[in-house]
Amino acid sequence: MTESLRFETRCVHVGVDKDSAYDSAITPIYPSSTFGWSDLKTNKGYEYTRSGNPTRRALEENIAALEGGVDCKATATGMSAITTVLHMFKPGDHIIAGNDIYGGTYRLFEAVFAPLGIEISFINMQDAANVRKAVKPNTRCIWIETPSNPLLNLVDIEAVVEIARGCGALTVADNTFLSPYLQRPLELGVDVVIHSTTKYLNGHSDVVGGAIVSARKEQADKIGYLVNALGQGCSPFDAWLVLRGIKTLGPRMEAHQRNAAAIARMLDGHAAVERVYYPGLESHPHHALAKKQQKGFGAMVTFDVKGDRARAERVMTRLKLFRLAESLGGVESLVAYPDTMSHASMTEESRRAAGISERTVRVSVGIEHVDDLLADLRQALEA
Ligand SMILES: *Cc1c(COP(=O)(O)O)cnc(C)c1O
Repeated sequence: MTESLRFETRCVHVGVDKDSAYDSAITPIYPSSTFGWSDLKTNKGYEYTRSGNPTRRALEENIAALEGGVDCKATATGMSAITTVLHMFKPGDHIIAGNDIYGGTYRLFEAVFAPLGIEISFINMQDAANVRKAVKPNTRCIWIETPSNPLLNLVDIEAVVEIARGCGALTVADNTFLSPYLQRPLELGVDVVIHSTTKYLNGHSDVVGGAIVSARKEQADKIGYLVNALGQGCSPFDAWLVLRGIKTLGPRMEAHQRNAAAIARMLDGHAAVERVYYPGLESHPHHALAKKQQKGFGAMVTFDVKGDRARAERVMTRLKLFRLAESLGGVESLVAYPDTMSHASMTEESRRAAGISERTVRVSVGIEHVDDLLADLRQALEA
């Protein structure tokens, strides 16, 4: 039935029929660590919560339906989703990833999995030709993250999938920045999608969580085995919160990106702003690709202020509605400084090489009234 339902309807209805006791309108939280057996061979489908839990299962069915996958596993954090996927590879395997991927992913590759013998090449993936050049006989995975953080560069998903198919590598896409409402990598041929549900899927900045969605049963089985073996599953309460957040994903994303577009346009014409990075602007180098592979431009906006570091700091600390904080994707607007926050684990040299300057400011645009957000940004820029 769920295949015929439209996206917003799936958000609300998939995974909510778990209560046979009282027919509750929403999925109950089952905090039980263990479940009973009626004889030595029979239980009601769940035995122990690390291996499976009805509330977590409801969330997994929901996210699988949104991304169009055969199955999903909900994990404790976005990083635990990535950690699980990386356990599909063994020493000697080679992974290609972008040089502007999420800082935590970069650290996990570099500091944890590289010393275990996984070989990783960080390249500029904005040009698919670089991906083709980076392929080696032992390449087993191509890691896609698009749009990237904080400069919102895009990777051409279909072009990378074609290269991966040519060399038998698995493609994994981190779809955190857009959510399945705006981008569905599995429909473009990607094998596995991961999420930090902490961001748009939950959307209310009150949980950390992750998800892994597979296009095919073979990978889904392997990942399901690993999530249980490694103990990565999320708590029933966290699953319930994310499931609740997802119900409003469609309307939230519409409101987020409507506000973001207005803010990007205002900043683009502002005398105190040097440059704006937003895929919805025609001046963005990947605007055409964004129109092709995304269903919208998202709600992350990055800009360089004119002047120096002190000027950027003044703008950020003068903002009143945009809280100075890491993370993104919640209903409330946030402002972050990549140089000392999200990208602090990179060397200054690699930050500059990636185009992150000391004047670069990133905002996660929330769903407040756009006029209040515009006024707040203006007063901070003009003070
Ligand atoms: C936040 C984030 C992660 C990590 O997720 P956590 O829930 O913080 O563990 C991974 N990828 C991207 C793109 C993110 O924004």
